[in-house]
Amino acid sequence: MGGPSPMLWLANAKILDVQRGRTKNGNLVVEGERIVEITRKKAAPKGAKVIDLAGRTLLPGLIDCHVHLTLPTDTADPYAPARRSDALVALHCAEAARRTLMAGFTTVRDVGGWNHAEMAVREAAKQGHVIAPRLFLAGKLLSITTSGADYYPGMYEICDGVEQVIAGARRQIAKGADLIKVMATGAMLSPESEDSRAIQFTRAELEAAVAVARDNYKHVAAHAHAVDGILNAVEAGAGSIEHGTFADRAVLQLMAKKGTFLVPTLCVTPAMLRDRHIRETIPEHERARLVGTDEQHRKAIRLAHRLKVPIAMGTDAGTPGNHHGDNAQEIVEMVTGAGLTPAAAIYASTMNPAKLLGQDKELGSLDQGKLADVIAVARDPLADITALTQVDLVMKGGVIYKHGRRRIT
Ligand SMILES: [Zn+2]
Repeated sequence: MGGPSPMLWLANAKILDVQRGRTKNGNLVVEGERIVEITRKKAAPKGAKVIDLAGRTLLPGLIDCHVHLTLPTDTADPYAPARRSDALVALHCAEAARRTLMAGFTTVRDVGGWNHAEMAVREAAKQGHVIAPRLFLAGKLLSITTSGADYYPGMYEICDGVEQVIAGARRQIAKGADLIKVMATGAMLSPESEDSRAIQFTRAELEAAVAVARDNYKHVAAHAHAVDGILNAVEAGAGSIEHGTFADRAVLQLMAKKGTFLVPTLCVTPAMLRDRHIRETIPEHERARLVGTDEQHRKAIRLAHRLKVPIAMGTDAGTPGNHHGDNAQEIVEMVTGAGLTPAAAIYASTMNPAKLLGQDKELGSLDQGKLADVIAVARDPLADITALTQVDLVMKGGVIYKHGRRRIT
């Protein structure tokens, strides 16, 4: 991996306009870390480095809005994450970040880390010791007292009552958080004694988290399955609802009106079922919860899309079998399982996440002046969305990390 080259022509490409949902032939010109021009002009100027893409499709780097880079995916033992030292967690996190970048995800939002090891990985990436996507990090997630913390002691910051929520949110920001993650309802991957349908934080607690986030120019991501918990979080002013399993028409209409993003994480259950070892060893109550709600979840996401709720792609990579680097499977699920067109699914994986992160002037589309986060795929993803599962070229900030079979790492 070298530094950004002075001028780079990604020549002979189909360049995807994510807003219009169509491609046009041309060359994309990068200088330093930015896109400086998109041109049909045939010849590159003398001294420019040319990469002939031979008709491949160029897209903006993909953005996953829901990952847990510090979680292992090769085990369904719920107590396995807690048995690792923080040093090992950081090393695993760096490897997860590398794989995610190589899969074409040049930006991720991590919505629950582990003892802030992910903050150390971000620092190591900044210093050039490891490679990673652009990392927007929540630090520890805020939660009421619940047995969920038994499985993920490094991920939970227990806060009961408004005062503790304020303090907990401030602690994450002091550690370097870019957003605040809250648990508005129970979780699926938690001990049996936690009711996954339960309402957790109260409206007042959620409002307190939102107030701290807003005062610091940040947003709140709210984990929510149960419809009343979704409503609490939307009315409190959360920027995004994670999962949204039991969302009904009324709450989705409110989200559409308020511009609250929905992050579906549809691939959690299929990814768990696809991996034989995970499928055979996952605790029965977790399996039953995931499988038992999967169809309802898809129904909710389909309805959300029809009601024009802004959707931002998120995998929940880090759950059992939901491997880091397989992130594009979620974009495929959004098309095959939730009725989005390929163009809508790509928009939900580029431009909408950039908006959710407040980065839409810098990221999310291939436009002159934006950061050169660019990927290339061999087949046309508008015709076949599975094209995104095989990425040929990965560039972040004008630096090429992967090119064909050559991995520049
Ligand atoms: Zn999650």
